[in-house]
Amino acid sequence: MRLIGSGAEAGRTGPERGRRPRRVAMLSMHTSPLEQPGTGDAGGLNVYVVELSRQLAALGVEVEVFTRAVSSRAPTSAELVPGVTVRHVDAGPFEEVHREDLPAWLCAFTADVLRAEAGQEPGWFDLIHSHYWLSGQVALAVARRWGVPFVHTSHTLAKVKNDALAAGDRPEPPGRVRGEQEVIAGATRLIASTEDEREHLGGLYGAAADRVDVVAPGVDLDVFRPGDAARSRALLGLDPDGDLLLFVGRIQPLKAPDLLLHAAAELLRRDPGRRDRLTVAVVGGPSGSGLEQPDVLVKLAADLGISDLVRFQPPAPQRDLAHWYRAATAVVVPSHSESFGLVALEAQACGTPVVAAAVGGLRTAVADGVSGLLVPGRDPARYADALDQLLRQPHWRARLAAGALGRASGFGWSTTARGVLRSYRHALSPAAVAV
Ligand code: UDP
Repeated sequence: MRLIGSGAEAGRTGPERGRRPRRVAMLSMHTSPLEQPGTGDAGGLNVYVVELSRQLAALGVEVEVFTRAVSSRAPTSAELVPGVTVRHVDAGPFEEVHREDLPAWLCAFTADVLRAEAGQEPGWFDLIHSHYWLSGQVALAVARRWGVPFVHTSHTLAKVKNDALAAGDRPEPPGRVRGEQEVIAGATRLIASTEDEREHLGGLYGAAADRVDVVAPGVDLDVFRPGDAARSRALLGLDPDGDLLLFVGRIQPLKAPDLLLHAAAELLRRDPGRRDRLTVAVVGGPSGSGLEQPDVLVKLAADLGISDLVRFQPPAPQRDLAHWYRAATAVVVPSHSESFGLVALEAQACGTPVVAAAVGGLRTAVADGVSGLLVPGRDPARYADALDQLLRQPHWRARLAAGALGRASGFGWSTTARGVLRSYRHALSPAAVAV
């Protein structure tokens, strides 16, 4: 066992805190920060890696993000913003590979990360931050070789997901559960998005609470801010006086956009007069085991007799999403499980109340009765109850909209980056770093 960094060389500022890292290797093997989120494997994790890296660079920490090259035309490295470089690693075919097949390319990815550092001066990176268990497996090997600590963010946990599977969804395979267990045991420190996740890391994976730092993700408050809803509606070709119920995200059983369609049908059953005013929009693309979902949703809308009011929109850049959020009467997030739920924060930052499942991180993202409503259980009638109240009571909706803005204002990415930096310093403290 070797301790990294004596007190003197670590230049620590307190008994528990090590020095700031100068250069961090950010590992995001399975999905690139350059991809458009909202479809396939690209979602909140991509946004997290981009925003965190940008903010760390602003705090003076250089970041190199390693991700698998999915095209032979991808440059070996590309600058994302000054201080943040994305490195494309050769590992596996130059095409999308299903997440479940990626473990076969872990060795190749690891070797290429090691090669990338070999040409640099010794100690080029002083810390690794891995995202999702696949990158965590790479970090296990690379951290040992470089003699640096590694901090790991799980983003989702297989055991939590498997406990709340949607009908027809495939359970996460035992290989992932085992791999995740190894990463959680081997990481110097773990970052959880919520206290809930810290408890899961302890209760389900045996991670001691004092090895876990709770750091909430953030929202880009410059992009997601209130604006002229009428202008957004006009831009999107929506009825200026109508009601919009909005789903944003990867279309997969776990996110349950079908529940929103059922709830909308229930709203119309209760009050058929609403049909002329109501639009339901689903923004996002197919993902994972939900590849068949858009077709299934189109058919479901037809079976429910609501095809005329449902709009399916391809994944949109965040600047366009802001218009969707502003135009919406409510954003609905009915996920089976959610480690945080950035969409809920983004909607609130635009001043739109959220109706969300009372699960996981959504219970942190949404303040029930203040910035939106949390719905227990999976009964569409309960979602219809919540939406019905919102649609009928514009004054209350305006109060929730104000509450939503207040809620989101506490979640900037710079706050996230400062919390993550504290975690890095713990990881670099002589007490923490033992490899
Ligand atoms: N997103 C996007 N365009 C889309 C749909 C989603 O940019 O068309 C982004 C969205 O802004 C959010 C992320 O994808 O930041 C989804 O994150 P969330 O935590 O809600 O879900 P995850 O994908 O992590 O399961």
